[in-house]
Amino acid sequence: MARLILRRHREGRILAGHPWVYRSEVAELVGPHRPDEAVTVLDWEGTFLGRGFYNPRAQIVCRLLTRQDEPIDPAFFRRRLEAAWAYRRQLGLDGDATRAVFSEADRLPGLIVDRYGEYAVLACLTRGMERQAEVLAEAVEAVLGVRGVYRRADPAAARIEGLEGASGWVRGSGVREVEIREGPLRFTVDLEAGQKTGFYLDQRENREAVAARAAGREVLDAFCYTGAFACWALARGARAALAVDTSADALARARRHAEANGFADRLEVEAANAFDLLRRLERDGRRFDLIILDPPPFTRRKSALESAVRGYKEINLRAFRCLRPGGLLATFSCSHHVSPALFEETLHAAAADAGVTARLLAALTQARDHPVLLTVPETRYLKGLLLEVIE
Ligand code: SAH
Repeated sequence: MARLILRRHREGRILAGHPWVYRSEVAELVGPHRPDEAVTVLDWEGTFLGRGFYNPRAQIVCRLLTRQDEPIDPAFFRRRLEAAWAYRRQLGLDGDATRAVFSEADRLPGLIVDRYGEYAVLACLTRGMERQAEVLAEAVEAVLGVRGVYRRADPAAARIEGLEGASGWVRGSGVREVEIREGPLRFTVDLEAGQKTGFYLDQRENREAVAARAAGREVLDAFCYTGAFACWALARGARAALAVDTSADALARARRHAEANGFADRLEVEAANAFDLLRRLERDGRRFDLIILDPPPFTRRKSALESAVRGYKEINLRAFRCLRPGGLLATFSCSHHVSPALFEETLHAAAADAGVTARLLAALTQARDHPVLLTVPETRYLKGLLLEVIE
């Protein structure tokens, strides 16, 4: 097995519980290396730190899979998967769609597994994991008891890691569209063409929390994707909802979701850029009692933080202005680099500029099946605020 030796004094982050090794921290790789074989990571003195896959092409050349002196083999992956699945089972989620493996947070860095009813979607984000796709899919099938495992290629990871695999069924085969249940609602997931792995499972608890206050309200779900927030709000008695997204496919599915759940008459969809739309709604005097802002990450890089914050401030400022007195704003950021404190500061500035007094009803975070590891801050990425504009 090849040995990856760190430069002197570069083991601090790993000893503090973080699993990544950056290229700049490596002194040398000793011994023959096969991309599908884990390497042993050692500090400069030769002390064992752990094992992980090595990819010299990526900035993060290695992510530790274990800190034990144990083989990285099919039995290892099976154990990790069983632990991840045991954690989900005890959450007692009401539904049949859940994130079963959340990469670093489940000590399987580079692997995402989402369960959608009788099927699972697997995404490999590192080359090492990609090489294990068959082994992983077999373990997923056995541990989760699903009928098929579909692999989704991740374009961003493909660029960074030099991945080659295409999307397709790795185990079994199945339908392109899967029905899932989330609480009282039925949704459908397009395994092949949906965004990410098909559905934003990370918002499930937030959908429920926001919907609990939606009764009688007129709702704007901006950045709605397939309308999950709007549907939850309508299911809990919202008077009407306008769901907006730039993706026509997502909106078509949002319509179907409203039909399938029996409130098509209360959902209106509109294909638009939410920035433009909010400006127009504000100008036209259109007002709402509940606005949900769940945009895509405005930045994945630290360097673009300033412009991302400007974006968040802009949409939130407009949303405040489109709320009736007593209205609610459920606003989110899924950029890891935007900290909860920075997000709150941004909302503070937006409220001040909009001239509203906003009461903080709840600070929201990612669903419990997207756990956070204390020693790996990157596992925490979704934050939200539920705010009430008081009269
Ligand atoms: N709230 C959704 C997930 C939203 S993901 C849910 O619970 O399922 C973010 C969505 O924003 C994506 O569907 C994307 O198509 C959309 N989007 C990206 N940029 C946009 C823009 N400028 N205006 C409106 N929608 C946008």
